[in-house]
Amino acid sequence: MGGAHFAFTDRWGGVSAVPYEELNLGGAVGDDPAAVLANRARAARSLGLAPDRVVWMNQVHGRDVAVVDGPWGADADGGEQQVPAVDAVVTARRGLALAVLTADCTPVLLADPVAGVAAAAHAGRPGLVAGVVPAAVEAMVALGADPGRILARTGPAVCGRCYEVPAQMREAVAEVVPAARAETGWGTPAVDVVAGVHAQLAEAGVVNSSRSPVCTLESRDHFSYRRDRVTGRLAGYVWLTEDSRGATPGLPGEKKNDGS
Ligand SMILES: [Zn+2]
Repeated sequence: MGGAHFAFTDRWGGVSAVPYEELNLGGAVGDDPAAVLANRARAARSLGLAPDRVVWMNQVHGRDVAVVDGPWGADADGGEQQVPAVDAVVTARRGLALAVLTADCTPVLLADPVAGVAAAAHAGRPGLVAGVVPAAVEAMVALGADPGRILARTGPAVCGRCYEVPAQMREAVAEVVPAARAETGWGTPAVDVVAGVHAQLAEAGVVNSSRSPVCTLESRDHFSYRRDRVTGRLAGYVWLTEDSRGATPGLPGEKKNDGS
């Protein structure tokens, strides 16, 4: 039985310049690609991971899941394999890390340490409605995971008191996921994606779950698309090791329980 490891970055400890300072891990937000590579290597090393053993996604706010057993490599012609457009990746390969990028959306990390199956998912409002998290759990079960054993962690995300939406949009979301119906701190319609994700997890039989107390929009230590528009991306990492005794190491500049 191997240990499950979960980690979420904040924005500090990297080399990116303004407005991506400092630890931007997103490759599609206009930052210098060399800085992103350096940041990804730095973050991986601080977690005890080899940078080339981290699987990233091309996230598109859908509900498609890819099962992976290694990093995206070269294709048959020797060219670089295209990273598929999915919002969840699942693996039964211990030691392979799965990563999800966010700046307000909810990063969801899942692991069944007994079965040795892990998943990372990206759930914004569209992904919540589409059901990307239940789809990820389903894909894990197909690989031998048991929902009752799955450990779930959601990372820093915009909170329900900050995520204001038009009234009609709130009702459309609440029709599918009632738990996501929320109100802002100033009394207008809102969506609580994190609450919605946890309701979906519970419905799928995943009871061992916990959430970060950090609201990205309120925390200056985190990237927030809603607040800053042009900004970096945070990452969540999940992986399973053979050794269940190891603790999850911290990241450079990581702070606990800040914001919100
Ligand atoms: Zn908030």
